[in-house]
This record gives sequence, structure tokens and C-alpha cells, in this order.
Amino acid sequence: MFVGHYAPALAVGAYGKIKLWQAFVAVQLLDFAWAGLNLAGVEKTRIIEGFAGNSHLDLYYMPYSHSLGMSIIWSIGAAIVFALVFRKQARIGAILFGLLVFSHWITDLLVHKPDLALWFDSPKV
Ligand SMILES: [Zn+2]
Repeated sequence: MFVGHYAPALAVGAYGKIKLWQAFVAVQLLDFAWAGLNLAGVEKTRIIEGFAGNSHLDLYYMPYSHSLGMSIIWSIGAAIVFALVFRKQARIGAILFGLLVFSHWITDLLVHKPDLALWFDSPKV
């Protein structure tokens, strides 16, 4: 589940314009948000035995961390924060960081059950 997210991080990290640890943070940022929002009770997850093969997590409500629209917003916001914090890597680093954040949604789309909303209560893909 998580391993697939690191492939884009390793590829971009090898390119050398962004540090590997930064790439790892970028590809997991949406899941960090998901964990925090679940702990805060904003997003909802339930455990159903055998729900999705090896995973028992039913991710039935996660519009703030994993909808397509919010993933784009998270990616842009993360790129802006990256540019402000890491000024020496600002241009290409921020673009790569933002793209890596968004790569999380793409890699989730490949393996998740249809639980990724396009925008809040929209149909899920
Ligand atoms: Zn995810």
C-alpha cells in the first residue's frame, strides 16, 4: 500500500534537485493529513474484516485529504510552503515537491477501491 508511493520519490530524489527525505515527506503528505484528520474526527475510517484484500480499512469519508480537488490544493500549498522554507531550492524544488504530493493521489487511484472523491460529495473513483 505505501511502497508504491515511494517510487516517484526515489525517481525524483535520484534526479538531485530535491533531497530524498523531502521527496519522502512529499509523497506521504496526503496520508499525514488523512491521519491527522481521522484523529481529529473530521474524516472517517472504519475497520471491516477482509474489506480490501490485505487491508481492513474502509476509507469511506476523506474529502479533505484525498479528493482530487483537495489533492491539487494540497499540492499547490505544499509547493508554496516548500519554496518559502527551502529558498535555495525554491523554483525546481517547489515544483517537484508539489508534483510529488500530487503523485500520491495518482498512486492511490491505481490501487484503492473507489473511495477517492473528485470533490467532497462527488462520485468516487
Ligand atoms: Zn493515501
